[in-house]
Amino acid sequence: MHQMTLAEIARGLADKKFSSEELTKVLLARITQLDPQINSFISLTEELALEQAKAADVRRANGESGALLGAPIAHKDLFCTQGIRTSCGSKMLDNFKAPYDATVVSKLAAAGTVTLGKTNMDEFAMGSASESSWYGAVKNPWNLEHVPGGSSGGSAAAVAARLLPAATATDTGGSIRQPAAFTNLTGLKPTYGRVSRWGMIAYASSLDQGGPLARTAEDCAILLQGMAGFDPNDSTSIDEPVPDYAAGLNGSLQGLRIGVPKEYFGAGLDPRIADLIQNSIKELQKLGAVIKDISLPNMQHAIPAYYVIAPAEASSNLSRFDGVRFGHRCADPKNLEDLYKRSRGEGFGPEVQRRIMVGAYALSAGYYDAYYLKAQKIRRLVKNDFMTAFNEVDIILGPTTPNPAWKLGAKNSDPVAAYLEDVYTITANLAGLPGLSMPAGFVDGLPVGVQLLAPYFQEGRLLNVAHQYQLNTDWHTRTPTGF
Ligand code: GLN
Repeated sequence: MHQMTLAEIARGLADKKFSSEELTKVLLARITQLDPQINSFISLTEELALEQAKAADVRRANGESGALLGAPIAHKDLFCTQGIRTSCGSKMLDNFKAPYDATVVSKLAAAGTVTLGKTNMDEFAMGSASESSWYGAVKNPWNLEHVPGGSSGGSAAAVAARLLPAATATDTGGSIRQPAAFTNLTGLKPTYGRVSRWGMIAYASSLDQGGPLARTAEDCAILLQGMAGFDPNDSTSIDEPVPDYAAGLNGSLQGLRIGVPKEYFGAGLDPRIADLIQNSIKELQKLGAVIKDISLPNMQHAIPAYYVIAPAEASSNLSRFDGVRFGHRCADPKNLEDLYKRSRGEGFGPEVQRRIMVGAYALSAGYYDAYYLKAQKIRRLVKNDFMTAFNEVDIILGPTTPNPAWKLGAKNSDPVAAYLEDVYTITANLAGLPGLSMPAGFVDGLPVGVQLLAPYFQEGRLLNVAHQYQLNTDWHTRTPTGF
């Protein structure tokens, strides 16, 4: 039962082969049995799950239908869930029960999803390995000595280990696509503004975007359908109609123009990954796609720009955690300043503290123009590169990551080494474009992802290309041994 995709679950529920309650019990038991190996959950919500499953079964019995009605999922632990701990992977919020549901959570609940729990993540979504969580590192089901990627590593590891079919995640600089690549999943970062950020704990507000992590493009289409749409509570949400993503999966790829940027194949890319990406290009050519060589000349400046902008926004966003209103408060503060200093010093881990300091420095008087303003100018150049490229091509294709999943702890002493691994993913966040990662093969038993990027609001095109690719390849069907 645990091998089923969301699409298969929807068919099974519609055909009355099993109930949502039966499926939910099977998956909860599987999580209890197997999750200690990978640490993908921070909280399990068994009672809520069984209640939602029973309610979904009643709705179906009363004639309602819908691809998400009775579908078990989990939420990354930065989506606020009313009355349930919402920790953001931090000691700072270990005691925080959100007073309301994030829009993503309430929309999916209304569609009939069953919430099995909240998934582990890098503290405040800062990281690429899911090792900075206060609740301990997440492990990659493909090799328990390796990281699952981050920051949505808990969602990715749980889906890869078949503990559940799909989960929500967020992507500020790659945190949906990179863990998808590291765990053999399909993950979609939508256009900035496509999915509401209301109730999603902010890391870098101009870059953050929620999206689906699942095994197939078809399942990403189903989950995105339940997440996307205008939300008046989020001032950056865009009032653009949401297409029927599942209905768009079967378009032909005949004549599809795929741009392959030369900058994505430079030094630093593992040559074995380069070969697998070439194979996926050949596969898409067989389906009728036409390949064009393109250039994104400002890509080399994207990492330094991102690692100024994201920490700058983070330093501002995280100032709300002051020990006064919610979250961790130090014991016996001597005065207000002592309260701030010790509450924040005790509540935030080292990576979060590092980013707050970098961000506060970049925003301070005298440095603002040199760092923050300069980074914003680079951001515009990166966006302009994409706009020029999309005059000639329909999608852009390249590797998701330069290397496969590294060993736990391998980059802990060198944060910049980890930042450099984001080279292919952060440009889409700087430009606000949609991006998808899908399975493309293995290197030393570890999964490799191929990334597709599209113009604004062309999530449907990404899902269509990925679905056609998955109808003709079987990488996405491989299961990690032991799960
Ligand atoms: N690795 C990037 C960072 O640490 C991206 C994280 C994310 O997308 N949340 O900022």
